[in-house]
Amino acid sequence: MPTSFLDTVSTTLASLEEDGLIKIEREILSAQKGRITVADGTESRPGVINMCANNYLGLADSPALVESAKDALDHQGYGMASVRFICGTQKSHRVLERRLAQFLGKDDSILFAACFDANGGLFEALLGPEDAVVSDSLNHASIIDGIRLCKAKRYRYENSNMADLEKQLVLAKEAGARFVMIATDGVFSMDGYLANLPEITRLAKKFDALVMVDDCHSTGFMGPQGRGTAAHFGVNDDVDILTGTLGKALGGALGGYIAGPQPVVDLLRQRARPYLFSNALPPSIVASSLAALTIVEQADDLREQLFVNTVYWREGLTNLGFTLLPGEHPIVPVMLGDAKLAQEMASRLFDLGVYVSPFFYPVVPKGSARIRTQINATHTRDDLDEALAAFNQAAIETGLLV
Ligand SMILES: *Cc1c(COP(=O)(O)O)cnc(C)c1O
Repeated sequence: MPTSFLDTVSTTLASLEEDGLIKIEREILSAQKGRITVADGTESRPGVINMCANNYLGLADSPALVESAKDALDHQGYGMASVRFICGTQKSHRVLERRLAQFLGKDDSILFAACFDANGGLFEALLGPEDAVVSDSLNHASIIDGIRLCKAKRYRYENSNMADLEKQLVLAKEAGARFVMIATDGVFSMDGYLANLPEITRLAKKFDALVMVDDCHSTGFMGPQGRGTAAHFGVNDDVDILTGTLGKALGGALGGYIAGPQPVVDLLRQRARPYLFSNALPPSIVASSLAALTIVEQADDLREQLFVNTVYWREGLTNLGFTLLPGEHPIVPVMLGDAKLAQEMASRLFDLGVYVSPFFYPVVPKGSARIRTQINATHTRDDLDEALAAFNQAAIETGLLV
């Protein structure tokens, strides 16, 4: 290895450090849940209120899911040691794929190791150089990478700007695109804003375009029975392709999927590279994901609690004088503006027993640094009250509020 290589890597790291862009990973010593034990130097800190997990329904430590995983380990083994098409498909993989499809109101679905892989494999497999993708500027990194891997022409519209979407659709059509696919997150995770799916699907019809929605931050808790953003807006039948994750509300372990029309899923099974060349999901995760779907379909109580908690949290912070991005989603961004202030607040909140994540440039635009809080169904009123008191104290100590 040339010595200059490591020098260059170290220089890059040093400049990240200098710009305050180094991400530190706190180590959790308990299961993932509403209150966790977190390592703090050589100490361990119990009872920390966790406000940064995607554990919306609180299923990450669900005894039913743990039991299902154990049962699958006992009866179906630990791993598949194969990709799906060689010898990595157990009956339960297909059962889960059909079950997910049914839940999402689509013909069929196909599993991936992660939604990152699902988005990474989708576009290249379905679209060619004669086609076009029109993508929201705030789409998840995996959609951006997936589009980069495909040869279709790329068009980008300003986040949720429907006039700009229409403009880009016109451009794509004028350039003679055979098929045009609109790609959007169902929920934009830095803001907690929902994509305008009623208008997107209307424009798709007008321009005879396909619609692909990545519903990672929605499936399981938005819409009737948690069927997602499109179901929430009543436009599920107008969304052609859904992608999603098993790693958030649906248990929080690992895995992703694409759901859509039968021929689309069938072709992805033949062509999607992350599916063809990466290991099958382990039986324990498949079994627990099935159990998660059973819970989710009947979890109106958890969903109600989640939204009651979210409203309580939003009102509490607003009453204290914080500036939030408006909305109904359990992603509740507390806007601070300055990156340093966001970091200071997060660090002070951790001292006060509340675990939150600060986001700043380049993850969000310059000057719109924030603390993104995420509410889940297992947060109790006490948890939320304690967290509100901590936010108030941290804001006074950092000079944000007087
Ligand atoms: C979390 C997330 C992903 C990645 O999902 P994994 O299954 O963890 O790879 C993709 N898209 C969006 C919008 C996400 O929020």
